Amino acid sequence: MYDIVIIGAGVIGCAVAYRLGQYEGKFAVMDFAHDVSEGASKANSGIVHAGYDAKAGTEKARLNVKGARMMKDLCRTLGVPYGQPGALVLGFHEEDRKALEALYENAKVNGVPGCRLIERDEILKMEPNINPEVLLALDVPASGLVSPYELTHALADSAKENGFDFLLGTKAEALSFADGVWTIKTQDGDVKTRAVINCAGVHADVLHNQISTKQVKIIARRGQYYLLDHSTPLLFNRTIFQVPTKMGKGVLVSPTTHGNLLLGPTAEDIPDGQDTATTRDGLTDVLAKARLTFPNADLRQVITTFSGIRAHEVEGDFLIGQVEGAPEGAFEAIGIESPGLSAAPAIGEELGDWVAYYLKLKKNLNYIAPTPLPKAFAGMNEQERRAAYEIDPDYGRIVCRCEQVTEAEVRRSIRRPMGARSLDGVKRRTRAGMGRCQSGFCSTRVMEILAEELGQDLRQISKSGGKSWLLTGGIGKEDSHD
Ligand SMILES: Cc1cc2nc3c(=O)[nH]c(=O)nc-3n(C[C@H](O)[C@H](O)[C@H](O)COP(=O)(O)OP(=O)(O)OC[C@H]3O[C@@H](n4cnc5c(N)ncnc54)[C@H](O)[C@@H]3O)c2cc1C
Repeated sequence: MYDIVIIGAGVIGCAVAYRLGQYEGKFAVMDFAHDVSEGASKANSGIVHAGYDAKAGTEKARLNVKGARMMKDLCRTLGVPYGQPGALVLGFHEEDRKALEALYENAKVNGVPGCRLIERDEILKMEPNINPEVLLALDVPASGLVSPYELTHALADSAKENGFDFLLGTKAEALSFADGVWTIKTQDGDVKTRAVINCAGVHADVLHNQISTKQVKIIARRGQYYLLDHSTPLLFNRTIFQVPTKMGKGVLVSPTTHGNLLLGPTAEDIPDGQDTATTRDGLTDVLAKARLTFPNADLRQVITTFSGIRAHEVEGDFLIGQVEGAPEGAFEAIGIESPGLSAAPAIGEELGDWVAYYLKLKKNLNYIAPTPLPKAFAGMNEQERRAAYEIDPDYGRIVCRCEQVTEAEVRRSIRRPMGARSLDGVKRRTRAGMGRCQSGFCSTRVMEILAEELGQDLRQISKSGGKSWLLTGGIGKEDSHD
């Protein structure tokens, strides 16, 4: 019997878990995926939105601005990549002036510091690769960048260190309540808990509608991207938006925390919340819109394409707190589309404290504060590299040439509290496989290290957990998985 079970191991579920680690109790996070951060939290723009466009007076606006203010300290505490390069929202026509002025006013009401409207000459001085046809822009210096999956993994590590169970590969099929206890039906049997928190992203409406008197509808809204290789110097220092549309913030051109360039996303409503395909039409649309900002966008620099799915609740705001009309002990954070990543620190803190207060949990006197993740070898100077090698000679072997990831880092990613168990798990914790060759060269070595560390046969090593095995059997031997 748990005190609290969180359904969904995305950035929201893990931020709530991170906060609850500061309380005493028996807690779990459940996810049908085989690792944390497998939903929207691994495939988004990674922007810490300052909060200029979230409609004033909404939960989205309040939690966006609060979360963005907390993000820098949180990332420092966890050792997660973060930067604050700022953003520009571009207008190309005189009609855009009105929209940008409205955004500027909205930013003021939301309490976003430092925004101002600027004209062409200044824009081109700040970002020379922007289309010279630009007319004006909203300058948003408070806009930041974070590595979304690295943040989620670090939050999960801390929760695990403080006693959380992670029930991965476990789907919450149905919720029911009797005699003060919630039962979560899963394919592996029932899980009992005093309180349940629904953070199930694009599927959260299914669980919500089983227990609430107010029905909600979440639309799966897909966003497709091109990811370009690193370039030195960076072609753009800031995130460059265009005037938002009713479907969202539009196509951006943005650096990532690791110096790549991101073009996208689309905004397409689709029937299947798991359909993370990229399509010819979607990517053609991205390129056409990105070229308005960046006419010289060069597809030869593209190293991969990907997509993520937003959980768009039709009424448009975040739904956070007790589930309306449900029996006691049911909480949720749903409809968490953009700026959900930016708002995650605030949602985690508020919702975690709320549920702890409801259950009258005591503070955890044995709380283990997070140890910040060590600096990546790729970002170390020569002296730091030597020092790392003296302590651990595995720093002397590069596994991923493109991203300069060492064997020491791959092994550590597997030994972390919520350690990697698959090729993708290592990739998102270390960047091995994230570079130009997209793991063509390093995958076999990473598989060997996984097999050694986990004491498994190579045939058990998978791409992303479950049955996504990478090897099917020996040549000429009858020893395949089936
Ligand atoms: C294209 C795109 C761009 C975005 N850009 C930004 C941005 O730049 N800045 C920003 O602030 N925000 C951005 N966002 C929004 C941000 O990514 C999300 O708000 C955030 O990741 C939501 O986190 P989550 O934990 O609610 O959902 P998710 O990360 O989707 O996690 C939900 C989890 O629940 C699990 N789950 C679902 N149903 C069940 C079940 N029945 N049983 C067990 N597990 C279940 C899933 O497997 C999943 O792991 C973007 C989103 C997208 C898609």
